[in-house]
Amino acid sequence: MTTSETLARPDPAQTEHFDVLVVGAGISGVGAAYHLTHQRPGTSFVVLEALESFGGTWWTHKYPGIRSDSDLYTFGYRFKPWTGTPIATAEEILKYMGEVISENDLGRHIRYKHRIESATWSSEDNRWTIEATRTDTGETCRFTANFLWMCQGYYRHSEGYTPEWPGMDRYTGQIVHPQSWPQDLDYTGKNVVVIGSGATAATLIPAIANECGHVTMLQRSPTYFIPGRNANDLADTLRELQVDEAWIHEIVRRKILFDQAKFTQRSFEEPEAVKRELLGMVRAYLGPDYDVETHFTPRYRPWRQRIAFVPDGDIFQGIRAGKASVVTDEIESFTERGILLKSGEELQADIVVTATGFNMNVLGDINFAIDGTPLVFSDTVTYRGMMFTGVPNLLWVFGYFRASWTLRADLLADFVCRLLAHMEKRSAKRVDVALRPEDRDMELLPWIDPENFNPGYLMRAMDLLPKRGTKPEWQHSQDYWREKDELPAIDLDGPEFVYS
Ligand SMILES: Cc1cc2nc3c(=O)[nH]c(=O)nc-3n(C[C@H](O)[C@H](O)[C@H](O)COP(=O)(O)OP(=O)(O)OC[C@H]3O[C@@H](n4cnc5c(N)ncnc54)[C@H](O)[C@@H]3O)c2cc1C
Repeated sequence: MTTSETLARPDPAQTEHFDVLVVGAGISGVGAAYHLTHQRPGTSFVVLEALESFGGTWWTHKYPGIRSDSDLYTFGYRFKPWTGTPIATAEEILKYMGEVISENDLGRHIRYKHRIESATWSSEDNRWTIEATRTDTGETCRFTANFLWMCQGYYRHSEGYTPEWPGMDRYTGQIVHPQSWPQDLDYTGKNVVVIGSGATAATLIPAIANECGHVTMLQRSPTYFIPGRNANDLADTLRELQVDEAWIHEIVRRKILFDQAKFTQRSFEEPEAVKRELLGMVRAYLGPDYDVETHFTPRYRPWRQRIAFVPDGDIFQGIRAGKASVVTDEIESFTERGILLKSGEELQADIVVTATGFNMNVLGDINFAIDGTPLVFSDTVTYRGMMFTGVPNLLWVFGYFRASWTLRADLLADFVCRLLAHMEKRSAKRVDVALRPEDRDMELLPWIDPENFNPGYLMRAMDLLPKRGTKPEWQHSQDYWREKDELPAIDLDGPEFVYS
């Protein structure tokens, strides 16, 4: 008997079976558990989570100042009102998620410290077999499930992405990645260089600037930011009027989404005007003498990368106060004492923080096999960025870049629950998405169009990701404003769905 046959035929005595197995207890997985209990009561399910607690991103990241970069009215679930400031700390987000778990008794469905290693589909049994390692005991656990709901996020939680630069080994200071921030790191009075200028750098720098000797943001090229007050005037007014929090949540969400839709549209239609406005806000914080042209004027169109909201312009305040500065240059090499730049300047640093991003984790770094054949994910074609040709009974939650991630997690949860109900009605044990006859000659392209959106972690992983087609069904549109109407209207009896 081969290994795959062994996996496909688990020993029933040692295997637990569930209708649905949810991978991950981050905001998507906890949302999945909520929606299953409310929309599909009676469905048996388990959530397996590698970490020791819930929260995913908000549990893993423990660097100073860790906070959201989008507002919690839309990053929060649609079903639980957010009552705090729009930009929230990781601690506040974890508290909110903890309330969702306890208010809905979801804890009994979640198994922590279970890292899933493999998932094997058997067409004979029409089910997945999942093997997980208990990270506390090393024990292997086995589960079977009719449907896999992949809520593993998009990056590897164990380790962030740090490029290799020459001379790193001779550097005598400390190199730290924000994803594995040592809790005892003492940066008091020290010279710190933060490499990178994304949301993480913009969060971290103001949080440590007052205690450091000096902190320098070293960037190869600038990023767009939106500075603004960490408050929502509409929410504040509605609260003064004693409007119910559930109403406030819904109204403020709609207003934010309406404004974002207009902003996104303008970014495509009149990018220069949008760029002028964004830079104008930065200038207002930094004053007329600051070289905004060099340090805060990106080379790309607004929205090609995620734009971080900077509450109260705190990073700009740090720069203006002289506690922080920006250097726009490229790294030649590390030296004993710091970093030598291509311009010839040397930045001395006691600590270098590499806010250089993530390693993409494709399908949770799980070894997938379909009927004994290892799954080559990049050979599949994506159905709307959530299902994949040749991969039955599985849905992957990948949120929005330009809107809050959770908006899509909620929409996809509705879709899964509807799909499960539909399968039940049709007495189907299996659902696949498949190219229709008219799609057979469709050109297949990389997962995402780099002209549209091109963050480094995605570009580095493009060859591992599924293909997209040229028709809307076979694309990951990343457009909340279209999908909010399109996803609920999907005809589950359409020819792209094959049931058996
Ligand atoms: C610092 C930071 C700030 C961000 N801020 C925002 C923001 O403000 N707004 C926004 O929209 N997005 C933001 N994002 C993007 C963010 O990751 C998502 O919005 C969201 O939190 C992702 O939730 P998730 O549950 O899908 O994935 P994650 O939070 O990544 O959680 C996935 C979970 O799955 C688990 N898992 C993965 N593989 C396995 C496996 N093989 N076995 C078992 N468990 C597994 C992981 O341990 C993890 O707990 C931010 C990201 C970062 C890193």
